[in-house]
Amino acid sequence: MLNNPSGQPVQGIIFDAVGTLIEPEPPVLIAYLNAARRQNIQLDPHTVRDRYRAAFHRQENQDFRGPLATDEATERRRWRRIVAEALPEIPDLNLAFDELWIHFGKPESWRLYDDVPDALNRLANAGIPFCIASNFDARLRSVVEGLPALARFAPSLNISTEVGRRKPHRALYEAARSSLGIDSAEAVLCVGDDPENDLMGPLRAGYQALLIDRRGHHPEFSPSTNSLTALADHLTTPSC
Ligand SMILES: [Mg+2]
Repeated sequence: MLNNPSGQPVQGIIFDAVGTLIEPEPPVLIAYLNAARRQNIQLDPHTVRDRYRAAFHRQENQDFRGPLATDEATERRRWRRIVAEALPEIPDLNLAFDELWIHFGKPESWRLYDDVPDALNRLANAGIPFCIASNFDARLRSVVEGLPALARFAPSLNISTEVGRRKPHRALYEAARSSLGIDSAEAVLCVGDDPENDLMGPLRAGYQALLIDRRGHHPEFSPSTNSLTALADHLTTPSC
């Protein structure tokens, strides 16, 4: 499962959050359509989905060409632009943006993937420390604190807006590694769902990395797995 040329055993894990441990419930698209509906605007779901994806990727690509610096104000601007591009028909953009910003900061707007609680328990029982490094903003704190299976992460959250750099800048991985108390990047495994932020970026920075590709969207990238159960199996078997 892991491509580990250094031969270093995994001493700690840095997990991504969104798309790796948690996902929006209801999905982002439904939250956006509901925000428009509250302003009496009915929109075609496929159109909003396509606009959202295009806007999100435009923001990501723009960031990748820059210094990867961020803060809370930067993230609010990013998400305001995405909402504006996804919902151009709504009369009150500020209202929709504020509603969506608050919505995604609530733990009840998120769910854990089914494999997460058991995998984390097994890794913890095996004595493998782990933390979160996320490009989410400070709202992730209230989300994590409100989800019992993730509460253990609360003291070890490494958030881009607080570190000042976002993935794939190495500073965020380094902050997370430091929070684990591990000196060597080669002994730390980064796990996440984004090929650039969670696989290629960590590999360039000297970490081990594993893409979690739950829906088989990225067959061209490796190493990868489709569940955290497989990762826990791999790291908790005696031969590893
Ligand atoms: Mg992610």
